[in-house]
Amino acid sequence: ERRWLDAPHVALLAFPFGTHAAPLFSLARALAAAAPGAAFSFFNSARSNASIARSTAAAGPAPENLRVYDVADGCPTGYEIPADDPEEEVRVFLGLTPANFREKMAAADGGRKVSCLMSDAFLWFAEEMAEEMGVPWVPLWTGGPASLAAHLHTDLLRLTIGAGKQDVPARADEHLNFVPGLSSLRVRDLPEGVVFGNLNSEFSRLLHRMADKLPRAAAVALNTFAGLDPALDVEFAARFNTSLPIGPLNLLAPSPPEPDRHACLPWLDRQAPSSVAYVSFGTVISLPTAELAELAAGLEASGAPFLWSLKDECKERLPVGFLDRTGSRGLLVPWAPQVEVLGHVAVGAFVTHCGWNSVVESLEGGVPMLCRPFLGDQRINARVVSHVWKIGIGFEGGTLTCSGVEEALDVILKTEEGKRMRERAGKLRNKAVRAIDQDGSSVQNFKALVRIATGN
Ligand code: UDP
Repeated sequence: ERRWLDAPHVALLAFPFGTHAAPLFSLARALAAAAPGAAFSFFNSARSNASIARSTAAAGPAPENLRVYDVADGCPTGYEIPADDPEEEVRVFLGLTPANFREKMAAADGGRKVSCLMSDAFLWFAEEMAEEMGVPWVPLWTGGPASLAAHLHTDLLRLTIGAGKQDVPARADEHLNFVPGLSSLRVRDLPEGVVFGNLNSEFSRLLHRMADKLPRAAAVALNTFAGLDPALDVEFAARFNTSLPIGPLNLLAPSPPEPDRHACLPWLDRQAPSSVAYVSFGTVISLPTAELAELAAGLEASGAPFLWSLKDECKERLPVGFLDRTGSRGLLVPWAPQVEVLGHVAVGAFVTHCGWNSVVESLEGGVPMLCRPFLGDQRINARVVSHVWKIGIGFEGGTLTCSGVEEALDVILKTEEGKRMRERAGKLRNKAVRAIDQDGSSVQNFKALVRIATGN
């Protein structure tokens, strides 16, 4: 009995919005499989847990030593996110933290004492919980390294650039060469709430607190791999007690392919190599109607075959006749098995919002990107793609236009420049694959993470 109570028990706290909880859950699965003598408890909202359960159904049941708990999110059944206030659900949820987590943790796994607290890095209060419990805190940063560096240097950025005066500051085009590892980025690429936008928004304050707490973590796990951004590897190694790039997470802890409900893969099998434009803006963004029409017109004008992941409610907003005119070379689906799609030889370009998971998956497929970022870390990711790794094209004007889409697709799919982008993307893919080799850096770092999490 005593020995059972003393066995390591790792609690993992998820951030249940966007594509945040899913990568933490794959990490939990991988840890539980690697440390069968330890217990793992995963805490997340019921809605997010249900969505993870659906998308990981093909993987079969989770290891027995991993238990999943629902925490309150304050949203009644049937709650719909108000269109004019998409952050409402996040605010409501954060208002309930950390009490909602504490309540469920107290009873988890028969009350077994928690010996390590892991969390989404956004949940900075986990540092204080861990401190109180006298256990290590190990956050996972699910975004890219460049945006993390921007958040870590928020105070320096505000001091140097000035803050909060205008929507986009007068110094928008200045390069961030005073921030280690960010010299190719400009002020305008920063996430809103760092130097421009609402510095008092829930997210802005949360990320600022997080930046304060991360250097106190026992280790910071990152969904990237050593060598992807060498200057930032050095920066994180210096700033964190232990910096553990363990990505790409979906290669380190792969789940079996999602079912291809809308037959995307057989359709791709019929297309020529590197000829198809795949279009998706992730799980949160929905394109405004005017821009949707521009994108549709651009796809039509380019003549390239396309696979478009577009929710059914957006489909109704497409220009009249678009589907009839392009049906012979376009496939519209409400959801695509994106990892498999980007890994298919037929896909030659990815029109993306540059959410970090999408960027990493594109890189794994060696597919150049057309970047249309919207918010948060997406602008910074887009800039890294186009100007640091040089494996994509950004839309400088911000929004998509018919001619912009047509031209960018032409460059990527039909020119020497596009070919070079593909070659560079292929080199990054090879680096990613080496990182998750038997002796690769991400595998070594994952082993270190297992040791830290289980106290061995
Ligand atoms: N995704 C997918 N099929 C789709 C659209 C998206 O599998 O049709 C997945 C995609 O593979 C990625 C995630 O949804 O893992 C989107 O994550 P990302 O970080 O790019 O954007 P977010 O959803 O957080 O805005």
